[in-house]
Amino acid sequence: MMHRPDDNRYSAMKYNRCGKSGIQLPAISLGLWHNFGGVDALENGRAMARHAFDLGITHFDLANNYGPPPGSAEETMGYILKHDFPGYRDELIISSKAGYGMWPGPYGDWGSRKFLVASLDQSLARMGLDYVDIFYHHRPDPETPLEETINALCDIVRSGKALYAGVSNYPPDLTKKAEEIMRSRGMHLLIHQPKYSMFERWIEEGLLKELRDDGIGCIVFSPLAQGLLTDRYLHGIPPDSRAAKPTGFLRPEQVTQERIDRARRLNDVAKARGQNLAQMALAWVLRHAEVTSAVIGSSRVAQIDDAVQALQRTGFSKEELSSIDAILAGR
Ligand code: NDP
Repeated sequence: MMHRPDDNRYSAMKYNRCGKSGIQLPAISLGLWHNFGGVDALENGRAMARHAFDLGITHFDLANNYGPPPGSAEETMGYILKHDFPGYRDELIISSKAGYGMWPGPYGDWGSRKFLVASLDQSLARMGLDYVDIFYHHRPDPETPLEETINALCDIVRSGKALYAGVSNYPPDLTKKAEEIMRSRGMHLLIHQPKYSMFERWIEEGLLKELRDDGIGCIVFSPLAQGLLTDRYLHGIPPDSRAAKPTGFLRPEQVTQERIDRARRLNDVAKARGQNLAQMALAWVLRHAEVTSAVIGSSRVAQIDDAVQALQRTGFSKEELSSIDAILAGR
């Protein structure tokens, strides 16, 4: 039987304006980096995507290389769009990216116009789409002139194959330059996608200010530090966790005693707030006005419920913030 999205799907989610733009994104978005590849169970991926949309998660984040194998997460998204969300394309924000190695030879990686245009065409074919809503350059390319990369993004938007452009993993100065190039073409950089969590705070040193100054939105990735900022690893590495899976990007050696100790102490702060650690970690990244959305990963439906419930308590007292800072500083 065809899946029918919940009629109340817009009642609980919070939508934040993406910088100075017409787009609003759900405070929680779903990323398909893990658990949606060809090696994963399709039915689990479908159940998570359907449940996310039922809860008002309108934004699904992809990249050319998500899988494994690379490209297969976009094929899964294509399957879901066709079988679970037919007729709902206009309610969804689908993003993809290019910037990491995708095919052999000098044209399958980094930031040339050649790579970006060809990669997006491949992504659209895999997803069965005419356009993506957001197309990102995935990481800075130290060798290709920034003008070439950003002009390629502008031309892609003008061609209609993407509605908006974004950058990911760019430092503040390159972000500013990217926005300047776009502005010189009468366009605007919609969004930046940086890594940000209690364990990775680099965006606080300049990037957030740049995004605020130029009215660029911000969707932070790995807000749970791939699961380290949840109760998943408090008592060792569970066999069904990302760190235990051969295809997971979180390696067992990254589950260090220091991180576990900090997560345990943070878990106590979360409990005192009436949240679990994952929920507090999400509320914490969303505390900045510049952060439009947190893009989570999930391996099961219940994790999506957890994330959305985090929105019920997003405020922090000064005392809570200082205890968190002290724990993160190892005091
Ligand atoms: P998270 O930090 O949210 O980690 C997700 C993992 O945490 C899940 O797979 C799950 O691990 C665990 N988890 C999630 N919720 C809970 C919960 N409530 N309780 C316990 N454990 C939980 O994000 P990701 O690292 O997955 O990244 C999210 C998205 O960000 C990606 O899908 C992608 O779209 C984007 N991204 C972008 C990058 C870029 O360069 N632009 C790079 C990396 C990611 P488990 O599997 O063990 O259950």
